[in-house]
Amino acid sequence: MPESTLTHLECSACGERYDADELHNLCPRCGKPLLARYDLQQAARTLTPETLAERPLDIWRYGEVMPVRDPAAILTLGEGGTPIFHADWLGESIGCPDTFIKDESLNPTGSFKARGLAVAVSRAYELNAQELAIPSAGNAAGALSAYAALAGLPAHVFMPGDVPLAFRVECQALGANVTLVPGFITDCGAKVKEGVEAYGWFDVSTLKEPYRIEGKKTMGYELAEQFGWELPDVIIYPTGGGAGLIGMWKAFDEMEQIGLIGPERPRMVSVQSSGCAPIVRAFEQGWERAPLWEDAATIAAGLRVPAAIGDFLILRALRESGGMAIAVADEDIMASISLMGSQTGVFPAPEGAATLAAQIQLLEEGWIQPDESVVLFNTGSGLKYIHLWG
Ligand SMILES: *Cc1c(COP(=O)(O)O)cnc(C)c1O
Repeated sequence: MPESTLTHLECSACGERYDADELHNLCPRCGKPLLARYDLQQAARTLTPETLAERPLDIWRYGEVMPVRDPAAILTLGEGGTPIFHADWLGESIGCPDTFIKDESLNPTGSFKARGLAVAVSRAYELNAQELAIPSAGNAAGALSAYAALAGLPAHVFMPGDVPLAFRVECQALGANVTLVPGFITDCGAKVKEGVEAYGWFDVSTLKEPYRIEGKKTMGYELAEQFGWELPDVIIYPTGGGAGLIGMWKAFDEMEQIGLIGPERPRMVSVQSSGCAPIVRAFEQGWERAPLWEDAATIAAGLRVPAAIGDFLILRALRESGGMAIAVADEDIMASISLMGSQTGVFPAPEGAATLAAQIQLLEEGWIQPDESVVLFNTGSGLKYIHLWG
């Protein structure tokens, strides 16, 4: 693996710097997420289209801009390197021929959460964390369980009481300690906090440690590479905590500094369910922060995030990109699962299908033009949600 050029951690809000070779959660000064910073000039010497062509198709191929220093600490199940399809039939039928699907359901544990947790768990393992804990709507818990099993570390996962059976069974089979919590993912987060204080667990909640987004940013590198170091006009991303969106936005910035891409950026679109749309509301109101959404309810478990700690980073990326945030109804998400499935052969998670519902709405509104290139992120497999048809 190419050597990491990680230099330090930097607070996304106050800019304070921290030693990257110690375990960190939020910025001790202001309580906001820390971001990993690299020596990008150094990275640019070896991270080139030519050297990449020789490397294995996984997230570790971007090793210069990954935080793990010791190759022996890398825990891998083959995450990343997912295909991007030109969705011919689907594009024709919705009147947007250049529609692409980045199919993240092919990751280990069936969702893009594997990218983030492969990196977070590897780095926690490298820095000697002893026990790991996570609040999750389902897919993050499954991914943590898998990489913790690989590391030989105990995993404590907290999921809402009504979490779909598939997620609970998966975590248990992977050896995690599973606790179901009445309420929402935010209530699960409170339980994790208790365990952190009582037992010294390391909290791998999204954006509460710096490295899950480093794993998720590889979606941005991959996308650019798969498009021949260009980017599409529009990216539609189902947004819960927003780590993938923030990660890709960070990746584009790094890639420009490395010299892999120019200054052009896609318009970034966050899609949420109308039953839980804090980012959409904040975007529409022109707010910098997204207040908690009361009584969050949606079939798209990964989008049932009433409050996101990275809200200001999501909103900033949407606005800087000239993008937008849009809510879609659960009925439209259901219809889009079958539409995407029958026209592409990809059985999407409801979160992934939500991107198609959003695209259709944005085409109707004229916000997306029929000749634009649009990438839909199918973030997970539909197979974990068959209860929706039960
Ligand atoms: C977690 C999850 C999301 C939301 O991802 P964020 O990066 O946290 O916004 C979307 N889709 C699926 C399938 C998920 O598991």
